[in-house]
Amino acid sequence: WAKADGKNRWACYDAERNAREVARIALSAAMPAALERDEFYVEYQPIVRLPEGTLTGVEALVRWAHPEFGRLGPDRFIGLAEETGLIVQLGRSVLAKACAQAAEWAALGGVAPVVSVNLAARQVEEPGLVEDIARILREAGLPPTSLQLELTESAIMGTTGEPLDALRELVDLGVCVAIDDFGTGYSNLAYLRHLPVHALKIAGSFVVGLRADEPDSVDAQIVRALVSLAHTLGLGVIAEGVETRDQAERLSDIGCDSAQGWLYAKPGPPEEIVRWLV
Ligand code: C2E
Ligand code: MG
Ligand code: MG
Ligand code: MG
Repeated sequence: WAKADGKNRWACYDAERNAREVARIALSAAMPAALERDEFYVEYQPIVRLPEGTLTGVEALVRWAHPEFGRLGPDRFIGLAEETGLIVQLGRSVLAKACAQAAEWAALGGVAPVVSVNLAARQVEEPGLVEDIARILREAGLPPTSLQLELTESAIMGTTGEPLDALRELVDLGVCVAIDDFGTGYSNLAYLRHLPVHALKIAGSFVVGLRADEPDSVDAQIVRALVSLAHTLGLGVIAEGVETRDQAERLSDIGCDSAQGWLYAKPGPPEEIVRWLV
């Protein structure tokens, strides 16, 4: 590793990268015990209907209450959990928590929001997924129609044979499936019409560029095309990362069905969802 004088920048870069790699490995190694100690918890973010802004669902987003580093977001550990395979257990735990929570909200009496849970490719490939989810729903006392699964394009497009059968079985049970971050991957559009899917979620990276004074910007035209594609296929469309009124208005004009983002609410504890349930 040691580099001759004058190449210090490289040595420095390597040391930094090395430290990051060590931290990654340490975090990865700590995950099984953390799961055992129940350090992972779920926050919920409202999904609203456009243009009214009424609640239709909530997305469950996992966090890690790390005893040393504090609250860690999923971008810090989901990839690691996918690499080690721990995502299967972690994902099961998130599903169980989210379904139990949704059943609690439903018991309050008002509108029962559909709870949307992210599913990693690794989970879809796991044999027994359908039985797992059916059992989790039963134990939570939640009807399958109150659960939506979110899969990214790569997770769903790379899926053939048995995993796809599993998704079909789940859809037969009444569970909804949405494609997450749509437009950022490499979807096979011809294939899309044959997938057991109910909705597309438009990635926030397309929403960021929407502005009232530029109704025909490239981003606006892309979003219009995605909404049109979804509706042609009979699918619903949810826009992610909606931060401003301007963006919400543009989305509404374009005909986007639902929206999610900081404009409405940041992800938070389940108590914060209760005030939406009246
Ligand atoms: P995602 O499923 O696309 O979730 C949306 C992300 O956008 C969340 O980040 C959310 O907090 C963030 N977000 C929401 N509204 C806004 C906004 O208005 N502006 C901006 N800039 N961001 C907004 P988060 O919570 O950090 O999650 C990141 C990703 O981690 C998720 O992206 C999802 O792919 C993954 N993830 C989260 N929970 C789970 C899980 O339980 N299982 C799996 N497999 N993946 C998960
Ligand atoms: Mg998602
Ligand atoms: Mg997304
Ligand atoms: Mg994402």
